[in-house]
Amino acid sequence: MPFKRDVHASSVYKEPAPIRDHENPFEAMVDRFDVAAQILELDPGFYEYLITPTRIHITAIPVVMDTGRIKVYTGYRVIHNDILGPSKGGIRYSLDVNLPEVKALAAWMTWKCAVVNVPFGGAKGGVTCNPREMSAGELERLTRRYTSNLIDVFGPDKDIPAPDMNTNAQTMAWILDTYSMHAKRTENAVVTGKPIKLGGSLGRREATGRGVMTTALAGMDRLGMRVPQSTVAVQGFGNVGSVAAQLMAEQGCKIVAVSDVSGGYHNANGIDITKALEYSEKNGYSLEGFDGAESITNDELLALEVDILAPCAMEDQITSRNAESVKAKIIVEGANGPTTPKADAILKDRGVMVIPDILANAGGVTVSYFEWVQDRQGYFWSIDRVNRRLDRMMRIAFDSVFDVAHQHDVTLRIGAYVDAIKKVADALKLRGIYA
Ligand code: NAD
Repeated sequence: MPFKRDVHASSVYKEPAPIRDHENPFEAMVDRFDVAAQILELDPGFYEYLITPTRIHITAIPVVMDTGRIKVYTGYRVIHNDILGPSKGGIRYSLDVNLPEVKALAAWMTWKCAVVNVPFGGAKGGVTCNPREMSAGELERLTRRYTSNLIDVFGPDKDIPAPDMNTNAQTMAWILDTYSMHAKRTENAVVTGKPIKLGGSLGRREATGRGVMTTALAGMDRLGMRVPQSTVAVQGFGNVGSVAAQLMAEQGCKIVAVSDVSGGYHNANGIDITKALEYSEKNGYSLEGFDGAESITNDELLALEVDILAPCAMEDQITSRNAESVKAKIIVEGANGPTTPKADAILKDRGVMVIPDILANAGGVTVSYFEWVQDRQGYFWSIDRVNRRLDRMMRIAFDSVFDVAHQHDVTLRIGAYVDAIKKVADALKLRGIYA
């Protein structure tokens, strides 16, 4: 039977729905999955299996706030699948966290691990909360209760969390400790992205931004662009964006714009990224009031005349509304899901190379894998070894995605999906269906 799409994975296939700027990120993932599945002539049963999350956990998290009042938060953990190995994925704290978003992020983790040849499946977690309004004590209690509610889900051989938006190494330390208290032994391989002193890996904090830089350079190479003085705009100045900006500047690129929630900052002569980083750190991780550049809006940043645009903030930033105004030659997606399917089509027509999230930001999970390996061996690598191996794996993944895309005459995004889905489908075929 020929392949047809059905977002809800029923066995009755419908014609593909028109590509839209989605309201539901999981459907945006399925839009791309569908195109790749058609190219692969994926068996309908495999199609259904591979888009369906294996397990969805939703849990109520009561927290005693500093005022003494109890507040109940909703937490999620979605295991998209664990065909290639234990599931792996970050945990985010944000008011925007909802089930379709967590499901999409979990699926992207599955494809991301496959693209970079990391033997993990995909998962994601999150708690709907506003961490900016919570004290450190409230965040610690929230994290520990979330962990204990999911104690049977997590484990170094089962499901391994990592930081994502608004969570960090300290959050991972609390998860490690809570899990270890229940296990009655210290189990540092249960999380990655933890502090170095607790078994974290050198280079993990910078890994995602480093992968963004490596893949951007690989893209420029393929387009015959020169790195020195090439111009770059980076949206988002957190873990991913600030490191990507700094590393691209070190490579000789001119970073002409950066931004965060406070707005955009533009300087045609180039922004001193070290200065911007120092300013942001001193200013509570905000660029608000940064005087090394002129203020612009985040929308204006996306439309700047630059060689490379790196969206490193959040989903749905480049849509049908603004894709026509993007002037960059390359978009390198540090964030997950920053470009909608409808925008993809516009960018393709305009000849913009989009290095997709599941490739461009896979440096984080790659070094998370290195961290897990080091924890399990009890033997820790030098920063040179981490970075060399990361650069090699990112380059191999880029070349493989580029070749697949070229072979099928599709975008790099669809090439990455084809590459990833084929790897997971081949593994599923070998494993078979347990009855
Ligand atoms: P972060 O919380 O450290 O930083 C996010 C940055 O984006 C902040 O500077 C914030 O002010 C800014 N921001 C938020 N909303 C914005 C908006 N509307 N416009 C402009 N800037 C805005 O988060 P992060 O870890 O850097 O993650 C950023 C993205 O990268 C997310 O999509 C995340 O899923 C993805 N990602 C992160 C990692 C990782 O290792 N941290 C790995 C893979 C993917």
